[in-house]
Amino acid sequence: MSRPTQARIDLAALEHNLQIARRATDARIMAVIKAAAYGHGMLRAAQALNAAEGFALLNVGEAVYLREAGFRQTMLLLEGCFTLDDMQLAVEHDLACVVHSPQQLAMLDACPRRKSLQVWFKINSGMGRLGFAPQDVPAAMEKLRSHPAVRDITLMTHFASADEATGVAAQLELFNTLAAPYRLPRSLANSAALLRYPATHGDWVRPGIMLYGASPFAEVSAQELGLQPVMTLSSEIISVRALEAGEAVGYGAAFRAESGMRIGTVACGYADGYPRHAPTGTPILVAGQRVRTLGRVSMDMLSVDLSALPAAGVGSRVTLWGEGLPVEDVARAAGTISYELLCALAARVPVKVV
Ligand SMILES: *Cc1c(COP(=O)(O)O)cnc(C)c1O
Repeated sequence: MSRPTQARIDLAALEHNLQIARRATDARIMAVIKAAAYGHGMLRAAQALNAAEGFALLNVGEAVYLREAGFRQTMLLLEGCFTLDDMQLAVEHDLACVVHSPQQLAMLDACPRRKSLQVWFKINSGMGRLGFAPQDVPAAMEKLRSHPAVRDITLMTHFASADEATGVAAQLELFNTLAAPYRLPRSLANSAALLRYPATHGDWVRPGIMLYGASPFAEVSAQELGLQPVMTLSSEIISVRALEAGEAVGYGAAFRAESGMRIGTVACGYADGYPRHAPTGTPILVAGQRVRTLGRVSMDMLSVDLSALPAAGVGSRVTLWGEGLPVEDVARAAGTISYELLCALAARVPVKVV
């Protein structure tokens, strides 16, 4: 018997979630598969999301790999090209490049003057991370539109607060004003904007997290949005013991029993991608029942409260997140977001694709 910890990846759920996105918009869908498809595995995610019109990722090497695997979709490099070699490969493999900086704009001059490059021109409408400042847009656009290396241009921006009460209004208005002089395709929406703000859909939407079955909103569950979890991280109880009142469990004796209780040890820890900062009380499923973690998470193990589950014992199945336990609930308890937990799935965890 090998260690019972595993991640199950449900490709049918991935396809289902793409359908949810599809039903919410008439725009083309650029499925975001960066960060190994948020920890789910890039190639298998691309295969399950093959009906998407595009894929967004970060590394030119990954995009070339997908091209060579036969994917014909629009392939967008979200941070654009880092080097001239990248740009050469982008031309060769017909990849779309974000151009977000004067440096990248200048890099185009070294590109073959064959009108071969697809450019996604990124405008900073308020996120403050990448993109041309509003006042620099007209000059940069003038250069791009007449550039001999550029085949076509899509205008894009990214929202800072589409998932929060602040919303998108100010950024949307600024972007639309800046885009107004050009009759070019537009792309603005992440998952939250796709689901909540149809006015942002434009020509291309860029969903990520929703495809993996997690809600982008703090106050709306994935289930309410009709999304299905794609990744289920599971393990088993490998040891059971009684704690007497006053006895502690784990590093730092961070949890101490107030009265007698029964606890179990689960074969999953932070080296598997479970958050070390998840405190006592983080939800966890044992034999399908929601109970709580106890004390500090170790590298390879964590402890759970079995007091309410007299039938549970060594070999009982444990779900860390996924089916039956939304990853958002675990993330919230651990003071983070579902994205971070999914992306952090460790390479040592065997993946079972269903
Ligand atoms: C990651 C990313 C997305 C996807 O965001 P989600 O919140 O996961 O839907 C969209 N656009 C850009 C530019 C991104 O970097």
